[in-house]
Amino acid sequence: MRPVLLDHVGRLTDDDLPAYVYDLPALHEHVHAIRAALPERVELLYAVKANSDPRILRALAAHVDGFEVASGGELSHVRGLVPDTPLAFGGPGKTQTELGQALEAGVERLHIESEHELRLLATLLGDRSVDVLLRVNLPIDLGHVALAMGGHPSPFGMDPAQLDGCRELIASDPRIRLRGLHLHLASGLQAQAQLALSDKILTWAEGCAHDCGVDLAEVNVGGGMGVDYTHPQKVFDWSAFGAGLARILTRHPRLTLRIEPGRSVTAYCGWYVTEVLDIKFNRGEAFAVLRGGTHHLRTPAAKQHDQPFEVIPEDVWPRPWDRPEARDEPVTLVGQLCTPKDVLARRVMVERLRVGDRVAFAMAGAYAWNISHHAFLLHPHPTFHHLDDAEASVTSGTYARQMS
Ligand SMILES: *Cc1c(COP(=O)(O)O)cnc(C)c1O
Repeated sequence: MRPVLLDHVGRLTDDDLPAYVYDLPALHEHVHAIRAALPERVELLYAVKANSDPRILRALAAHVDGFEVASGGELSHVRGLVPDTPLAFGGPGKTQTELGQALEAGVERLHIESEHELRLLATLLGDRSVDVLLRVNLPIDLGHVALAMGGHPSPFGMDPAQLDGCRELIASDPRIRLRGLHLHLASGLQAQAQLALSDKILTWAEGCAHDCGVDLAEVNVGGGMGVDYTHPQKVFDWSAFGAGLARILTRHPRLTLRIEPGRSVTAYCGWYVTEVLDIKFNRGEAFAVLRGGTHHLRTPAAKQHDQPFEVIPEDVWPRPWDRPEARDEPVTLVGQLCTPKDVLARRVMVERLRVGDRVAFAMAGAYAWNISHHAFLLHPHPTFHHLDDAEASVTSGTYARQMS
C-alpha cells in the first residue's frame, strides 16, 4: 500500500471499518497508461458491471471512449453521472422496456444478442435509427480460461448460423445500421493469449463479412484482460497488447477495433480494510476472524482464490489479558458470517497477526462490493472513501449517499 493511502487508512476510526478505500489518483494513472499503450484505432470502453461506483465512473470518463452498460439500471445510472460519454448497451435478456430506454437515451451502439432481439428492437424504433453490432458466439477452442462466455454452447451471443437471418432483416430496414460484430468470448487471458484470440476473431469476422457481402466497419473483441490475484504485481501487459494490436490492425486497414475491459481497469484501485476481531486455534489450525467478510467482498468466494492482503499492525492493546496472535504460521482469514464459505484467504503464511491489527485486502476494486450478498445476516455496510486527486485528500461517505 502506497504511503498516502496507508496514511489515510491510519486515520480511519474503528467505526469506519470495514471500509472500502478507492485510490483515484492510482486509477487515473493506470487507465491513462492503458489508453497510451493502445493504438489510435482502438476504442476503449469500460464495462460498468465491474464497478459502477460514481466517483470511479467520473474518473474514468476522462480517459475512455465510452462505457459498456448491461442493464437499464446501469444505463440510467451512467447517463445521469456522465451524460456526454457514449454508451454501448449489451447483455443477454434485454427487456422491451430496456430496449426502449436505450433508444430514448440515444445509445451509441446496441449489441444484439439474437434474431428475436433484433425483431423486437425493430418494433420499437418508430422513426428513430440505431447502430448495432451483432454479438456472435464463435466456435473456437479457448483452451484454459478463467471464465468462458463463448467457444462452447452458451447463452451469450448468437450462433454464426443466425447471422444470415439478422443480416437480411437489417438489409430490409434502413433504420438499423449494421456497424459490425461483437465477440466477448473469455475472461482471464494474459496479453499474448488475448492477442492470439483477437487475431483469430478479426480474421474470422473479415471472412464472415466478405462472405455475406457486408461492409465491416467495427469489431468489438470484448473485455476479459487477465487479472492475477495470486501475483498482484503481474499486471496485464498493456504495452505488449497495444503493440500486438497495432501489428494485427495493419492487416485490417479499414477496421475500428473496440475493447471493453472491466476487471483489469478497476481491480487494482480498490482496497477493503478491516480489523481482526478474534484469533483462534482450532484442531491445530489458526483462524483470524475479521469484521465484515464475503458479504462485503465476495470476490475470493466467487473466484475461489485467496484475496491478497497486507497487515497493518496496531500496537495499542488496551485489554488486561494476553493479546491473541498467530506468529510465523499459516492463518485462514474468515469473516463474521455463520457459514464455512465465508473465507477471504486460506492458510496464508503471516509473520504476525494479532487481534486489533488491521488487514487491507488489495485488488478489491472490481466485482467486489457490487457482487456481494450484503443483506445476508444484516451486518452493517462498509463505509466508502475515495482518495482524491490533487492534494490526495480524502472524501468519505456511505454508499447510500454516493448513490443519491
Ligand atoms: C463482463 C463483460 C465485460 C468485461 O469483462 P472483464 O472480465 O471485467 O474485463 C466485457 N464485455 C461483456 C459483454 C461482458 O459481459
